[in-house]
Amino acid sequence: MQVFHTGAEWQTNWLKSIQSGKTIGFVPTMGALHEGHLDLVKRSKIESDVTVVSIFVNPTQFNNPEDFTKYPITLEPDLNKLEAEGTDFVFLPDTSTIYPEKPVLTLNFGELEHILEGEFRPGHFNGVGIVVSKLFHLIRPDKAYFGQKDLQQVAVIKRLVTDLSFNIELIVVPTRRETDGLAMSSRNLRLNPEERTQALILFSSLTKAKDELLAGKPWLKVRDQISRDFKEKSLAKLEYFELVHPEYFNRFETFEPDQKSSICVAAYLGSVRLIDNLPIIP
Ligand code: AMP
Repeated sequence: MQVFHTGAEWQTNWLKSIQSGKTIGFVPTMGALHEGHLDLVKRSKIESDVTVVSIFVNPTQFNNPEDFTKYPITLEPDLNKLEAEGTDFVFLPDTSTIYPEKPVLTLNFGELEHILEGEFRPGHFNGVGIVVSKLFHLIRPDKAYFGQKDLQQVAVIKRLVTDLSFNIELIVVPTRRETDGLAMSSRNLRLNPEERTQALILFSSLTKAKDELLAGKPWLKVRDQISRDFKEKSLAKLEYFELVHPEYFNRFETFEPDQKSSICVAAYLGSVRLIDNLPIIP
């Protein structure tokens, strides 16, 4: 496994020597790697000739400074896990490599900015769009792997690839969960034992809502009951619980069985913000 730190190093030493016809799979991450990240790496290993993983905690996508300063960093174990998966290359840029200057460009993803993550994390998708564009330009992959866990991020990256004509195939990998259902997340490392227990309400409310919807209960009634459950049965503070189209993210007031839909949730456990989602009609 080779580690490199700049785009120039990758392009001169490695990219040029990768034979034409070989496909490059790319997995962008912010580190503190868990099995969910490794599922992306495994998928790339199966589908691509060369796998590149980046680890970069991107400051411009954090709308909350505390979330950035407390973001977990576990570099040595991360590198060991990537090596064990047979990762070919790891890109470990420092901030000045990615941001030699503060970008003046801003990206606006239209309607996606006004709902869910867009609404509650202003500027977040601009930061994601800028860093992913930079990483795509530096690495020049054929395929890029993203997790369904960050469903709205997938929608944003799809727009980015379409609108800026990146010649890159996007592959979406299902959410990896702990055995009790909690979606794996680097931020789970910040939960204390009580918060970790209480965090289960994200997944349990998604599955409860799905069952009730499929049994015919009206969506707004389902959502009201879930809001009450959060207030009465949990320490988790609900931020949103919405039924949306999984690509366009328009909000639905009613559930239509012939319409693609997913439920998305965000909630705070103490100062840790967690998100999750469940497809209802994929
Ligand atoms: P992050 O390091 O949080 O930026 O995540 C890097 C990539 O891993 C993103 O494409 C995430 O959607 C994906 N990812 C994070 N958690 C999971 C999970 N539990 N299952 C599958 N993919 C995930």
